[in-house]
Amino acid sequence: MEPLQVGLMFWTGGVLGSDATPGEIAESVASLGVTCGQLGVHGAAELTSAAAERWRTALDHRGIEVVTAFLSFEGESYASIPICAQTVGYVPPGTRRERELRTYAVSDFARSLGIPGVAAHIGCLPEDPSDPEHKAVLELVRRVCDHCARNGQTFALETGQEPAAALLEFLRAVNRPNLGVNFDPANMILYGSGDPMEALRTLGGHVLTVHCKDGTWPEAAGAWGRETPLGDGDVGMRRYVRTLREIGYTGPLVIEREIVGEEQRADIRRAIDLLNSIRA
Ligand code: MG
Repeated sequence: MEPLQVGLMFWTGGVLGSDATPGEIAESVASLGVTCGQLGVHGAAELTSAAAERWRTALDHRGIEVVTAFLSFEGESYASIPICAQTVGYVPPGTRRERELRTYAVSDFARSLGIPGVAAHIGCLPEDPSDPEHKAVLELVRRVCDHCARNGQTFALETGQEPAAALLEFLRAVNRPNLGVNFDPANMILYGSGDPMEALRTLGGHVLTVHCKDGTWPEAAGAWGRETPLGDGDVGMRRYVRTLREIGYTGPLVIEREIVGEEQRADIRRAIDLLNSIRA
């Protein structure tokens, strides 16, 4: 793969995917001229060896290299920031154990496809490190890192819910060499968590993979910002790519557009052209 190659985040199905077969999904990705990306594994996706075989065949046939298996879980909702805090990732105690086991299953599924990284939104963690919920999630992330390490994989935390300094502190506290972040500049803006370029410099060498997504700042504290097509929001794609080069990032530029249908496809085409013109 070339440095900063343009890639795409695509899904096995679920709210951001389609009910198409792996073959049809891989064909749809390849028809955009994209040959790398991240596979979002939705909460109910089948993880059997037969399912893995269908994905392997589909991805190989279209020559698509997947760098990350991205988890989402059943029951998660991003309807508002408070609902996100109650439902997303490993933070809700009632689903913590089943989601941990699901993470191991996705890691094993990814290994069978030769995918070198696993990533997830871990959720809105209580900031105080002495909070028992904070400790429980930290211990869980250690176990997940160790499971991924046995599979020869990294584990990446999606950025956005917290300021970069807090995330950096958490990475240091977990203290696992295969742990890093999947940096999403738009999330920093959408959650109002701080300037994305400063955050990127702060996280520097911990950045394993990145999303190329755009958005505008929230109009009120505690509200969501608005996701936009790439180039129309407040990230600034030129300065984003320049900052990625500054920190020595050489992985793919993975386009993420969190809507579905024809509009998503049209926005992705524009995003591919924009990123290719910037990196040229
Ligand atoms: Mg993202």
